[in-house]
Amino acid sequence: TAAISIKGLTKTYGNGFTALRGIDLEVKEGDFFALLGPNGAGKSTTIGILSSLVNKTAGKVRVFGHDIDTDLMAAKRCIGVVPQEFNFSQFEKTFDILVNQAGYYGIPLRQARERAEHYLKRLGLWDKRDVASRMLSGGMKRRLMIARALIHEPKLLILDEPTAGVDIEIRRSMWQFLQEINAQGVTIVLTTHYLEEAEQLCRHIAIIDQGRIIHNTSMRKLLKEL
Ligand code: ADP
Ligand code: ADP
Repeated sequence: TAAISIKGLTKTYGNGFTALRGIDLEVKEGDFFALLGPNGAGKSTTIGILSSLVNKTAGKVRVFGHDIDTDLMAAKRCIGVVPQEFNFSQFEKTFDILVNQAGYYGIPLRQARERAEHYLKRLGLWDKRDVASRMLSGGMKRRLMIARALIHEPKLLILDEPTAGVDIEIRRSMWQFLQEINAQGVTIVLTTHYLEEAEQLCRHIAIIDQGRIIHNTSMRKLLKEL
């Protein structure tokens, strides 16, 4: 089964604006996939639908075979999402944020604590474990969102513009971390408007523009064509 299978996906917002105009997309299990496109192309809308924050207007979406219309909870358990905007409780400590997130998935407290420690250490945030999230720098917040998205050990990690506004050193360490978890078997889909980011990381690329997929190919082939 594919990690993601999208057929005929359409989204018209409440104001009548159509952001997605019949998208077909398949992401293979284990892939490192970039959805590249300019601002306003429909990347966040696509991710919003995959993470069930946005209702689609039409089309079929399956995640590891689970149809989000009929099997949403199973689909959600397979997915970790790193949104573009920081959306934590400002006063909660980083360690507690992760433990509480694990609680939503019914992970026992002891295991939740072990995982929180594991991901904070891997993402270079362990010395910030007792710091309120609002005190973190932008790059740290981004890494905390990645840790939170991984706490239930999803098979698929989706990141919306993961390194936007992050300085180059942190960006490189985030890229390295994403490559490590992909090598450990996690399928990764990220959106970006930097070709360079897609080129550095991804094996497959789909280009979206004005709500349509205009290109869908392996990175190797794309680079040959350019
Ligand atoms: P839906 O049709 O999916 O219910 P809405 O049209 O009700 O979505 O909009 C949801 C939210 O997004 C509203 O709070 C709205 O103000 C906001 N919004 C409206 N236009 C835009 C836009 N162009 N970009 C981002 N957010 C927008
Ligand atoms: P991207 O992530 O590629 O920048 P988005 O998916 O955020 O693109 O937005 C696609 C289009 O849909 C944009 O034109 C945006 O203004 C519009 N849009 C996004 N959210 C809403 C909303 N809630 N209501 C109306 N229009 C929206």
